[in-house]
Amino acid sequence: MIWNNDYESLDRADLSRLQGERLGRLVDVLYRRVPFYRKKMEAAGVRPNDIQGIQDIARLPFTTKDEMRDVYPYGLLAVDLREIVEIHTSSGTTGKPVVDAYTSADLDVWSEAMARTLAAGGTTRHDIVQNAYGYGLFTGGLGVHYGARTIGATVIPISGGNTKRQLAVLQDFKATMLTCTPSYSLYLAEAAREEGLDLSKIGLKSGFFGAEPWSESMRKEIEQKLGVLAIDIYGLTEIIGPGVAMECEHQRGLHVNEDHFYPEVIDPSTGRVLADGEKGELVITTLTKEGTPVLRYRTRDITYLEHRKCACGRTTARMHRVLGRTDDMLIIRGVNVFPSQIEEVILTVEGVEPHYQIIVERRDQLDELEVQVEMNEKVFSDEIRNLERTERSIEEQLYATLNIHTRVKLVEPKSIARSEGKAKRIIDKRAK
Ligand SMILES: [Zn+2]
Repeated sequence: MIWNNDYESLDRADLSRLQGERLGRLVDVLYRRVPFYRKKMEAAGVRPNDIQGIQDIARLPFTTKDEMRDVYPYGLLAVDLREIVEIHTSSGTTGKPVVDAYTSADLDVWSEAMARTLAAGGTTRHDIVQNAYGYGLFTGGLGVHYGARTIGATVIPISGGNTKRQLAVLQDFKATMLTCTPSYSLYLAEAAREEGLDLSKIGLKSGFFGAEPWSESMRKEIEQKLGVLAIDIYGLTEIIGPGVAMECEHQRGLHVNEDHFYPEVIDPSTGRVLADGEKGELVITTLTKEGTPVLRYRTRDITYLEHRKCACGRTTARMHRVLGRTDDMLIIRGVNVFPSQIEEVILTVEGVEPHYQIIVERRDQLDELEVQVEMNEKVFSDEIRNLERTERSIEEQLYATLNIHTRVKLVEPKSIARSEGKAKRIIDKRAK
């Protein structure tokens, strides 16, 4: 279902014109009102008059997360603080957080973008949405909340964690839609099974999963264990929160809400804009945001774009599901490795559970990669000989995909720590 056909299926030429107008207005505002951007534009030798259409965006400077942190808390405000009605921030676990300050109009855009997101996975006013994303400064909880409310669906604002209660509420209130991280959805399914409950039989229709990269194999696993259509959603606090892009029912890339968030993919080392199909770093510009607009934000997420019209009728650009992050990317003996590539391989193996951990160590100046994979009870109680054979077979498949040797270790059921939020997949023991 398409929530806003006028914009989501807009003719591409009209969309480009609209984006050009919006970019022109944005640059004008940033130049006049935000010294941070004015300085950057002056350093890049570009003035608002130079921006005559969306094609001129490549002349504008990029913005990085570190720069946004440097002007914490209010250095990116483009309106008077009195106009701000809500504030969210990134987690700030690795430094000062990035602040996202919303005007009333920004909340309307966010609600609209999230209504599009939930509608793309089939949500209507008849649905009951169990929202297990965290509420609070994190954007996940309230983003879904506003979108569901805009559609007129019933929201259960249960927030993250408290798995027993999640399971009870799922059943008692007959939720039809579930929103949480992909890893948490599998944790829920596992916890349900222990209570003798089959989540695929309780009437869930779709799940909206985001906030961490996941793979096609993990999607199959989730769809089977929860009996849902598993929709990948994408967003980030630096831009607006969730609502930047979402899959439709065809699950062939995520539609970017391009009338509000303009996507580019660049070569992370040179900054050159890449063509459709070329993998690189996603860059997003907020075309309509008032509170804290962002010019060419370098997301560090690796993906590629596709502008062909989708079978669903939407004309918006699609981004491939995030392949990894430039900062999650492991460089093992000179080879680029993303955790998602490893996940893709191990989840196709019979008896493997979707819980794994990647451990990187340096021995004698050489990087060693160990993948610990959890097996189900049945396989794990098998003869040692068979387990070793499975380990060798996974190592061979990983070699075929990654082109590097890894050590695979099958571990006991439930021995890898579970997460109620974002899963921790990598333990890098190398000295930085
Ligand atoms: Zn589509």
